[in-house]
Formats: sequence, structure tokens, C-alpha cells
Amino acid sequence: MSVLGKEVQAGGRLRTDLDYGPAFLGDRHTTPVIVTHGLIKGPTLCLTAAVHGDEINGVEVIRQMLVRTDAAKLSGTLIVIPAVNWLAFMQGSRETPERRDINRYFPGDPQDDYASRLTHALFERVLKPHCDYLVDLHTASLKRSNVPQLRADLGDPEVRRFAALLNELPILWEDGSRRMLRQVAARAGIKAVAVEFGSAETI
Ligand SMILES: [Zn+2]
Repeated sequence: MSVLGKEVQAGGRLRTDLDYGPAFLGDRHTTPVIVTHGLIKGPTLCLTAAVHGDEINGVEVIRQMLVRTDAAKLSGTLIVIPAVNWLAFMQGSRETPERRDINRYFPGDPQDDYASRLTHALFERVLKPHCDYLVDLHTASLKRSNVPQLRADLGDPEVRRFAALLNELPILWEDGSRRMLRQVAARAGIKAVAVEFGSAETI
């Protein structure tokens, strides 16, 4: 298969970068995209973390999944974006440098501000063309802590079926805001849920 113009063979792993283009100060930024393409045919699961840059639990979840996932034994494909909001992640802040919550900017706009360009690049170049399923990993914001929970729009039967597969977690039926990643992905036909667990700024 080909992701961001790079080929990855069945049974192999590709580490590449998604180019977000110029950021707030005009310098270019990329974020890692790692593809584990299973030897056995199957659907594609995508994992995103650090959409809010200070919510770092998901980054560690993805690291451990990569260590434990063997492409030779995998049915389907795993695509991970461990630090979606790269600049915010590097600064340990929730929002982009110009204080945008990018989870209100999907599916983005290539001609608008940095948050719009970032969300557009991620959604149009990686998520929409490749993902059958999406788990977006979050924590509580500010000084709060969330009990581990799944957030999903259970009114969508496909999303409901997917959520039921992750049955260790309580599910909060939440439609979400119109421009959050989970909502926009579901409207594009991706079975999408969010997982919330723990606090920001800590693993
Ligand atoms: Zn979050």
C-alpha cells in the first residue's frame, strides 16, 4: 500500500512524516506517521494522540502498541499518528501557538490559519483515504482527571458495533461538537470513537 506517497509492503512497517506546511512563524513542521501493514488482509485501524498537545497518555499507548504489533502476524493495517498537534506537544500545551483548539477545526481548510491547514492535511491526506476505524486518544483537560471511558455517537449503528468491540470501557453516548475529529470522521464513513483516560501533562 502507499501512504503519503511512500510504499509499504505487506508484513512491513513504514515511518514517514506528514508535512503541515508553514506554522505560525512561517517555519515548516511535520509529524510522524507510522504504518504497520499486516501480512494478512484486513481493515485499517488508525490511532491518533495528542490532538491536545498536553494529553500525552495516548502517545505512550501508541508506543506500546507499536512495540507489541508484529506486521507478520497482523491482519489488516495499523496507522498511528502519535503527536497530531506537534507544536503544542513539543511545548506541553493544549492548543497551537496561536491558541487554537484543533479539535474544533476538522476537517480543516488548506487556505486558512495554521489550525485549519493542520487538520486539513491530517484528515485529507491520511485519515480519510486510509482509515476504516479510528480511535482518538485523549485525557481530561486542565487539572481534572477522567475515569477511563469511551465516547461515541451510538446513534450510528456502525460506530455502535465498533464501540461494543472495546467492551472493557464504559461508553458515554455523546454526539460531540460538529467539527471535532470523531464527528467529522464518522460523517466521512470512518467508524470513529474517542477514548478519555487520566489527566493532562502526565502518563
Ligand atoms: Zn483532549
